[in-house]
Amino acid sequence: MNEEIKNLLGKAKDVAVSAAETTGLAINAAGRKANAVFDMARNNIQINDVKNDIGRRFKDIGALVYRTHVKPETSSDGLAKKLEELDKLHAKLAELEKNAEDFKTKAQCPVCGNMYGKADTFCRSCGHALRGETPAKSDGSDE
Ligand SMILES: [Zn+2]
Repeated sequence: MNEEIKNLLGKAKDVAVSAAETTGLAINAAGRKANAVFDMARNNIQINDVKNDIGRRFKDIGALVYRTHVKPETSSDGLAKKLEELDKLHAKLAELEKNAEDFKTKAQCPVCGNMYGKADTFCRSCGHALRGETPAKSDGSDE
């Protein structure tokens, strides 16, 4: 590597480290922002998983119903339980989709990374003034 570039990178690293040491708050905010992004991604992955699970169970139930049609003597005892499990999955999906909506209608404090709704004027966590930073998109369902 070119010596000059090496020195430059070394300097940049030093600056980054000392900035990290002196502004613990900023690092904390970055960490919280990363966490919120992670939470949102994880929520979306869970939505996908639950949808896949529901799809598999639909198939399963369809196959069971068809088997009892082809061979009426086939027991369909498990059907009620399978439908109950499907109800639970749909409830979970609704909850996850509500979370996803919250992620869309709320924004993060630029200072500390705390989530806030459109009704908030100041960050509830660090007190940062949020005027002008209210998320544009909101359904007005904030508490
Ligand atoms: Zn804040």
